[in-house]
Amino acid sequence: MKRIEQPVVIVVFGASGDLSKRKLIPALYQLAYQNLLPANFTLLGFARTPYTDDEFRELAREGVTQYSTAGFDEHLWRWFSQNLFYMSGNYDDLESFQALAKRLEELDAERNTGGNYLFYLATPPSVFKPITSLIAETGLCCRTSADHLRRIVIEKPFGHDLESAKDLNQHLLNLFDEDQIYRIDHYLGKETVQNILVFRFGNGIFEPIWNRNYVDHVQITVAETLGIGDRGGYYDKAGAIRDMLQNHMMQLLALTAMEPPVAFDAEDVRDQKVNALRSIRPLDPEEVDQWVVRAQYGPGVSEGQEIPAYLEEKGVDPHSTTETYVAWKTEIDNWRWNGVPFYLRTGKALAGKVTEINIVFRKPPLMLFANLIANPNTQVPPSNVLTLRIQPDEGIRLTFDAKRPGPAVNVERVAMDFSYSESFGKDPGDAYERLLLDAILGDTTLFIRRDEIEVAWERITRILNGWKMQEEKAAQAGKRLRLPRYAAGTWGPKEADELLARDGRYWRNPHTVNPRR
Ligand code: NDP
Repeated sequence: MKRIEQPVVIVVFGASGDLSKRKLIPALYQLAYQNLLPANFTLLGFARTPYTDDEFRELAREGVTQYSTAGFDEHLWRWFSQNLFYMSGNYDDLESFQALAKRLEELDAERNTGGNYLFYLATPPSVFKPITSLIAETGLCCRTSADHLRRIVIEKPFGHDLESAKDLNQHLLNLFDEDQIYRIDHYLGKETVQNILVFRFGNGIFEPIWNRNYVDHVQITVAETLGIGDRGGYYDKAGAIRDMLQNHMMQLLALTAMEPPVAFDAEDVRDQKVNALRSIRPLDPEEVDQWVVRAQYGPGVSEGQEIPAYLEEKGVDPHSTTETYVAWKTEIDNWRWNGVPFYLRTGKALAGKVTEINIVFRKPPLMLFANLIANPNTQVPPSNVLTLRIQPDEGIRLTFDAKRPGPAVNVERVAMDFSYSESFGKDPGDAYERLLLDAILGDTTLFIRRDEIEVAWERITRILNGWKMQEEKAAQAGKRLRLPRYAAGTWGPKEADELLARDGRYWRNPHTVNPRR
């Protein structure tokens, strides 16, 4: 990774919170561990909770010892912690921001940081607008020269539907230039996600078959084993579609489906992602039922833990129609993918914790060995599946059929496997480490552009509108809509299996993907 040479103050709003402690500060420490930070690197935490610098450093120490992937080095920690500062203030109060501006001036003078500021909004979205308005009002984002670093990093969720995302974009663009705005989706910081582009476009042999002539269908799964725990208040307003599908899964889909960029730079890569997202078939609200399944978990056991029904979780409305699971069949209407379904699913309290993309290739035109497959009870699904394992057990696997040694012709499914940890001797690095580095270095390739977020929301809002219509219809009929259920600890509702079964396909659940069936 490239070292940061330019001095910078990173201002973290919401620095008293979970993201700051678990991800941001440990990621910065990891960068320090690799000697990638400038000598006068400075972090100024800002939040309402009153902490002294020392109390904040203690909080940061806890975060680093618990969550950093680099070893804890007392000597390094002493240097690192001296660069951490804190001030308390209100997110919607001009005086607090004037005090912030003054504090930044002092830090610049003491530490020679040259007025370079990266503002990181690690707060709930309800305060994104007041914070950015006051940053602008106090002139903190004005650049005086081309290399003057004044940037804003915005966390997810970016809006809760198309209208609110557009509204937030417009608000930001009234205050800042697009090249100052870094909309984060931490999935893009994952090595395995970046590797989708290298795998596809850095090799000659995959791209020629990466299309409707060879691919039968694509499956993208983001499965979690835990229920919503104590996040009921937040989750019940969001649901699986907003929490996972609109952002992370749309990014995975865009990277899997996009055309090769002209060059590996921010605008070319993002142009192609936007084109892929624009090619997703738009749904009419009336047809949402045929393409999308939503469901809620019922009681069950996942990873040995008893999970109550979603409707009985703390903070959840007992009549909630918020989905904890969503499966979506979509098509990408362009030359490359016409007629190839993409099946996306995500859910809480499922049987496995896994994020993966399966490219399922077509069967050979003539199944010469269909009756020789080792297990005669198994139907004959396509044998060639390329699995991009995003997390955990990061790697890539290609399955194919092989003759089992012996005098008879017995066919068995086997795999070629690439594992990050085996090949590179270490697990892929942390996403926030890479994203913070890129934001400071000014590389927007792994951040979401305005049009990208809006087209993703446009397609998702159509689904949300369809669901709203279903609820209105039920209410008009004097009924309360109840979502399908799945037992916690399973792979989801039967309705999602039926979505694929209608097409003669089935979900490739990780534990059933064992090629030695
Ligand atoms: P927290 O709920 O921990 O909030 C961060 C800080 O914001 C709190 O410490 C608090 O600081 C302040 N805050 C909390 N609620 C409010 C409120 N209603 N109004 C004003 N300020 C409030 O959030 P996280 O740290 O978990 O997340 C921050 C952002 O990052 C969110 O947008 C989240 O969606 C996103 N995110 C978080 C991830 C994570 O792993 N935690 C992962 C991916 C994204 P104080 O009271 O001191 O001002």
